[in-house]
Amino acid sequence: MNWLTNKVLPKINLFGGKKDTPENLWEKCPACNQMVFHRELEESQHVCPHCDHHMRIGPEKRFASLFDDGAYTKIELPEVPADPLKFRDSKRYVDKLKEYRNKTGVRDAVAVAIGTMAGTKTVIAAQNFEFMGGSMGTAAGQAIIVAADRARAENAALIAICASGGMRMQEGILSLMQMPRTTIAVQRLNEAGLPFIVVMTDPTTGGVTASFAMLGDVSIAEPGALIGFAGPRVIEQTIREQLPEGFQRAEYLLEHGMLDMVVHRRDLRDTLIGVIDVLLTPYRPLQPCEAAEPAEPEQPDVPEFLIPSAPSVDGLDRDGEDGTAEDKPSEK
Ligand SMILES: [Zn+2]
Repeated sequence: MNWLTNKVLPKINLFGGKKDTPENLWEKCPACNQMVFHRELEESQHVCPHCDHHMRIGPEKRFASLFDDGAYTKIELPEVPADPLKFRDSKRYVDKLKEYRNKTGVRDAVAVAIGTMAGTKTVIAAQNFEFMGGSMGTAAGQAIIVAADRARAENAALIAICASGGMRMQEGILSLMQMPRTTIAVQRLNEAGLPFIVVMTDPTTGGVTASFAMLGDVSIAEPGALIGFAGPRVIEQTIREQLPEGFQRAEYLLEHGMLDMVVHRRDLRDTLIGVIDVLLTPYRPLQPCEAAEPAEPEQPDVPEFLIPSAPSVDGLDRDGEDGTAEDKPSEK
């Protein structure tokens, strides 16, 4: 303890502290610029109560909101070579990675978890936009493959929640190779007859759209999400035309047949449960025959005059036999 820590720091903290408190309690909506009470945002799953803007949320919040009772197990992801190309732009790639790892507390941009949704075992892979714009390098590609393999091992559906600016250019061709790798992982799921459902959130762009994001058995998007391959500015410059309003937004893509549905975040869990139920039904094991037998004592519930008596059943059988016997000669 000295003069600096006792006298100067508390005064600096006083200025900082006063400013920090409202920021912790309130959050500004990036769409309508209104201040929203933090607790209110938590309750609405980070959807603005004023303008319905769906704010970006990380994998942890996704898992908690989608799995039953918010309970899930994170799947351990393998380590991959950190900087195979020894890439450097304004900063060394390894330093950038370190910076983002410290900032976000995770190793890379995809998290995978397993849990149940309405009692059905489900694997979810979610991209984290906070980690280098959710860009997909070797680690993220490997995570999608691990998720697909786990889904196959567990005979479960896989849900991919996309939020990405595209491939991680610091990994060059190795990041682009994640496109065919994830495509094959999805293909294997298809071959196993397991559902692959994609939820595109804001933004889903670049190589992610050009690979697994567009391969879902059912493609769902959140309202207002930016979805596309190249950005609107690049397209405008290439075709030299002004793009229509709402171009590359979820609603526009739905209108043009690129999506199956646009679902509000509050309805997302129920929608996914319904879709998984429909897609998984043919693969559910049939009930064993013994299970049908205890149904007999329930018969007295039916009024007696409705239960067919033994002679009439016999009569039907005889009619049937007679019918077939009559048919045969007529054919001749
Ligand atoms: Zn808003």
